[in-house]
Amino acid sequence: MDSLTFMSEKSHNLQGWDESESIIIYTHKKIRGGTEFMMRTYRFRAYPSSRQIDMLNSTLNLCRELYNAMLEQRIYAYRSKKHVNYRSQQDEIPAIKERFPEFRNIHSLVVQDVAHRLDKTYDHFFRRVREKKQGKKASAGFPRFKSTDRYNSITYTQSGFRLLDNGHVWLSRIGELRMFMHRSVTGDIRTISIKRDSVGDWFITIICDHEKGSEHDSWGDQGNEQPHANSPGFTNPVGIDLGLKALITTSDGMQMEPPSFLRKSEKKLKKAQRNLSRKQKGSGKRRKAKTRVAKVHRKIARQRDDFSHKLSRNLVENHDLIALEDLNIAGMVKNRHLAKSIGDASWNRIIQYTMYKAESAGAVVVPINPMHTSQKCSKCGNIKHDLKLSDRIYHCNSCGLTIDRDMNAAMNIRDIGLAKIGRGTPELTPAEIGALPAMVTPVAETGSPLR
Ligand SMILES: [Zn+2]
Repeated sequence: MDSLTFMSEKSHNLQGWDESESIIIYTHKKIRGGTEFMMRTYRFRAYPSSRQIDMLNSTLNLCRELYNAMLEQRIYAYRSKKHVNYRSQQDEIPAIKERFPEFRNIHSLVVQDVAHRLDKTYDHFFRRVREKKQGKKASAGFPRFKSTDRYNSITYTQSGFRLLDNGHVWLSRIGELRMFMHRSVTGDIRTISIKRDSVGDWFITIICDHEKGSEHDSWGDQGNEQPHANSPGFTNPVGIDLGLKALITTSDGMQMEPPSFLRKSEKKLKKAQRNLSRKQKGSGKRRKAKTRVAKVHRKIARQRDDFSHKLSRNLVENHDLIALEDLNIAGMVKNRHLAKSIGDASWNRIIQYTMYKAESAGAVVVPINPMHTSQKCSKCGNIKHDLKLSDRIYHCNSCGLTIDRDMNAAMNIRDIGLAKIGRGTPELTPAEIGALPAMVTPVAETGSPLR
């Protein structure tokens, strides 16, 4: 206990540590006792009373001080070659409660979780160091001390919480929190966290797991739960049209094309395949040509995978609701017209990755039936029956809206997604899409009243 000191202020010059990595929620598939589980994350807006906000803020502050003190202890131990780990730090908690009685106002598992977080952070740091040694691209910044705005959530593990029938949540030491559960939570609840965002709003994150093969393990039930009538709005919803011209078009006006390096590789593949077809069967040259084809195939697979990861990460980082076509319903009819280049498999992968990442990012993915999303006017709802496949611009005869065809569809998709979760049309918030400059081009609009 002696080396554990509490600091409220400290100058922190240990940099390069990615805050987002500190979240302990990043497992999607987990094997426990030989059984595979799917993890699913739910996020709901919570509305604590002012008294509860005071309690939450002081809890956050105490947890942050504990976190920083434990980090200090670890650094000190490392320098003096003493052994400190999760277990030893956890064992100190009763002594801390003795000395600082205010910690008794915090649920014991919440306090324990602080030590656990630090431990995770350390694990992560050492993993990155190892990766770096193996020559992988990894930045391994040392775990750093947390300032007030960097420590903004507490987590209940195993117990100390209850979901109530009225849709609220009960947290030990905090009490009943008003919450709008816009989706029913299924599976076994593993953890419940409450988080203060940068604006000062509060969110509850619930992580559940489902045994693989159980009725809820698929993504298929994403949109089927009954919406809650009073559910609050999402701040940054987006609809995505899987397009004919661009790979995807978003409702906030971005089109993403498959990157040019993919096209190049595809050309190379064709060439390699042609080359292979000219070689005599059983010859050594044919074997070599075959290997070349396989290599290009592998490269393309990697590039596509990388592209899908970037794109899906971009989507879940910029949006809290992502509405997209349910390809099972759509039957991929539209896709047949797409120049095959990147094609169906890529869409499926992008959708899969988006759903997968949304879980940990706290975004909601809503698959919707894309029927009439191209024909319907996103402004007035009029259906344009004579829309041809070749019409790149949607012009509404009823209200005069003139807009890129795919963007019109994307906006309809977004609105259907919002309606499905029980929300009205939001204000348009153009998302800032960074990190994909080469692949992102603004939609060319013709006299559209919308952005
Ligand atoms: Zn119209």
